Amino acid sequence: MKIYVETYGCQMNKCDSAMIQSMLVSAGHSLTSDLAEADVVIVNSCTVRERAEQRVLGRLRHLRGLIATDAALGVIGCVAQRMGDTLLKEVRGLDFVIGTDCYALIPDILEKTGRGRKCVETDQDNSEDYGDSPGPITASLSDFVSVMRGCNNYCSYCIVPHVRGRERSVAHATVLSEVEALVQLGTRDITLLGQNVNSYRDGHVTFAQLLGIINDVPGLERIRFATSHPKDLSEELIDAMADLDKVCEHIHLPVQSGSNSILRRMNRSYTREDYVALIDSIRKRIPGIAVTTDLIMGFPGETDDDFHATLSLMEEIRFDSAFMFRYSVREGTSAATLDDDVPEATKIERLKTTIELQKGITTAVNRELIGTQLEVLVDGPSERDASRMFGRSRSGKAVVFECPEECSGRLIHVNITGCSAWTLHAETETGQKGLARPVSR
Ligand code: SAH
Ligand code: SF4
Repeated sequence: MKIYVETYGCQMNKCDSAMIQSMLVSAGHSLTSDLAEADVVIVNSCTVRERAEQRVLGRLRHLRGLIATDAALGVIGCVAQRMGDTLLKEVRGLDFVIGTDCYALIPDILEKTGRGRKCVETDQDNSEDYGDSPGPITASLSDFVSVMRGCNNYCSYCIVPHVRGRERSVAHATVLSEVEALVQLGTRDITLLGQNVNSYRDGHVTFAQLLGIINDVPGLERIRFATSHPKDLSEELIDAMADLDKVCEHIHLPVQSGSNSILRRMNRSYTREDYVALIDSIRKRIPGIAVTTDLIMGFPGETDDDFHATLSLMEEIRFDSAFMFRYSVREGTSAATLDDDVPEATKIERLKTTIELQKGITTAVNRELIGTQLEVLVDGPSERDASRMFGRSRSGKAVVFECPEECSGRLIHVNITGCSAWTLHAETETGQKGLARPVSR
C-alpha cells in the first residue's frame, strides 16, 4: 500500500511519525507525498491547546473530500488518545483511531482496516517505549531522537500527562544505536527529546551520563535536548553541559509565568526566585549560553500584577527567545475546574504585549553578537532568499550568509555583521579557493 503521513504538533510527534514510517516500510509498504495516489492517509495529531485540536479536526474533514473515495483515513497521536471512538462520530468517513501507545499495532491494523472498516485502539501502556522499533530510514542534517515518553509533572493546565501517560526512559543502548544510525545516514546535529527530558533515567544512567555517551559518537558534531523542567536541572547536568564539547550552549527551560501565585497554581514546583537563581548558575558555568522559554498568558485568576510579574521576569532574564501562548482550557486537567475568568480580549492583549516585549529583547540580545564570530552548521539555501545560505549557531540562532552551496552540511566560522528580529546576518571567513573556512577541531 502507498501511505501518506501528515504531522501536527511538537517534535515528539514528528519523531513518532518517522518511526511509524520506518515500521510501515519494514512491513513492505511504500510512502508517498502525493495525497491523490495514497491508499492510506494517516494524520498524527496534537491536542495541547484547543486551537491545535480544532485544526486537526478541520483538516481530517477536509482530507476526506480530497483523497480517493476508497482510501482509508486514520488519525493517530494525542487527539486520537484523548477522544478515542468519539472521533468516528466527529469526523464522517474516518476509518481508524490509534492512540500514542498503540503504534506498534499500525502495520497489522492497516492489513485489516480498509475504507469503511472501522478500528479504534487507544489502550494506554505506560511501559511502551518503542525500544524495538526498526531504525531510521532517512535522516536530516539536524534530527531528533526520543529518549523519554510521558510526563509525571501534572502541571495543572496541561493535557500531556493525561494523553501521553507516565514517564518512561528508552534504554541508553537503544538511544545510542539510534543516534549512530542517524549519523551514518548523514545527521550531524541531534536533539534528544522528551516531555521532561532531564528526568531521564535508565537504571544507573542519568541524563547527564546519557549526554556523555552520545558525546562519544564519532561524526556527530552537536547535541541539544528539549524540553527540560527547572526542577530536574541538576548540578550534574549543568556540569555535563559545560564539559562535553558537543553539547551546545542552548537551554530551553519553560518558566510559564513570572508570578509566584500563578506558578503555585500551575503546579510548577518552583518559584520565580528559584528560576532566576538557576539561570544565574547556568550562565556562570556556561558563559554565552542561549536561554529560551515558554510562557502562558491569561491563566485563571491572572491579575494585572501577575501579568506584570511575567513582563518583569522577561526583562530580568532577557531570554534569547520565547514561545508564548494564550491559556487554553483542556478538559480533564485540574485547571479546567478553575474559573477561566481572564476575558479572551485580555488574553489576546497580554499575548500581544509579551510578543512585542520579547521581540525587542531578542533583537537587543542579537545585536550584541554583531562583531563576534560564531560557528555555524550550514543547512542549505535560505528559504527567504535562495541566493544566501542558512545555518544555525551552537546557540540555536538562525544565521544567513553568502557561501557556496557545497558548504552544506559543514561547520564553518562566520562573522556576524547585522541582525533582524529573529535572524543574524553574517559574512563567511574565506580561506583557500574562496571557500568558507571549515572549523577544525
Ligand atoms: N513538556 C514540555 C512541553 C509541554 S507543551 C514542558 O514542560 O515544557 C509545550 C508548551 O505548551 C508548554 O510549555 C506550555 O507553555 C504550553 N501549554 C501547555 N498546555 C497549555 C494550555 N492548556 N494552554 C496554553 N498553553 C499551554
Ligand atoms: Fe505538560 Fe508540565 Fe509535563 Fe510539560 S512538564 S508536559 S507542561 S505537565
